[in-house]
Amino acid sequence: MKKIRVNAGRPYDVVIGKGEINNLPSAINKLGKSGKIAVVTDRNVGGLYGEKITALLGGKDVCYVEIESGEEHKSMNTVADILEKLAENKLTRSDLIVALGGGIVGDVAGFAAACYLRGVDFVQVPTTLLAMVDSSVGGKTGVNLSAGKNLAGAFHQPRLVVCDEDFLATLPQEEFKNGMGEVIKYGCIADKDLLEKLSSPGGGLEEIIARCVEIKADFVAKDEFDNGERQKLNFGHTLGHAIEKASGFAVPHGQAVGIGMRVICRWAEERGLTPKGCADAIEALTDKFGMLKGENYRAEDLWNIAANDKKLKGKNISLVLLKELGSSYLYKTTIDALENS
Ligand code: ADP
Ligand code: ZN
Repeated sequence: MKKIRVNAGRPYDVVIGKGEINNLPSAINKLGKSGKIAVVTDRNVGGLYGEKITALLGGKDVCYVEIESGEEHKSMNTVADILEKLAENKLTRSDLIVALGGGIVGDVAGFAAACYLRGVDFVQVPTTLLAMVDSSVGGKTGVNLSAGKNLAGAFHQPRLVVCDEDFLATLPQEEFKNGMGEVIKYGCIADKDLLEKLSSPGGGLEEIIARCVEIKADFVAKDEFDNGERQKLNFGHTLGHAIEKASGFAVPHGQAVGIGMRVICRWAEERGLTPKGCADAIEALTDKFGMLKGENYRAEDLWNIAANDKKLKGKNISLVLLKELGSSYLYKTTIDALENS
């Protein structure tokens, strides 16, 4: 078992290990939470683990809320449904929400926790690789609006995150690849050793998850509200988001990040902003994990789509580029300059 402290405004632990879910009741007690618990999950995860987790947390007394799975349900309507259920069940501010599922459940349940009674505590129990290494840590919660993804949300840190590898046994392979996009990202921006570990044969998934969480925790501690250093976590994301959009969301997020990292690296290498060889190394790794190649995507065609991304303030844009494998920097430019580059 590994435990990583996230030094956000209110610090909390991320616990990583096989079977750790069984320690959830005692961990919740240690947080001083002895009241009601609401479990929020989606249909798939609920079907697989709902009963087990409900029984573990106290059976009938648990308020159990199942949402539909899929990006289209990451919406204000779903949040409203959750809030109504919490109110019907008379949850109070001293009670607790447990988000059991992938990134979507974590984002939606976390946002409901941020809104309900102006904020109740919640615990993240991520069940996808992507949620374990990325979205469950750091306190970003929210939903999509018609105008775009993640346009409504709140910073609301969990009180605890429990990453239990056993959940991954039922995770579809495509979802695993999606998580690998973010794992490779962490290696690229902050940890060459992690990249080497990923290139060599063998498992060690617990260690890999822990390393990613450590890196994320570091960035969150330095810049909880995402005004500077934390933006490095967006490596591959400016183009990644554009690729998701251009594909009509057929390319899932983590895999779009995989393609985005490669394309931005090649673009930067051609302009002497990143040393040659980085893009090849990323390609070798994404290939190793069977991720989408997306050979037809070129930076030049994607800037325009990227310009409509909410993360671009005006026409200025901060690109995350690699100084070398394992080290990154923010490169400030404008959309106009990029379109003419
Ligand atoms: P992400 O974590 O990549 O943001 P989602 O929250 O949409 O994505 O989860 C991806 C899909 O995998 C969803 O359909 C979800 O119901 C399903 N899922 C999540 N965790 C598991 C698991 N441990 N086993 C099987 N399916 C899972
Ligand atoms: Zn991402």
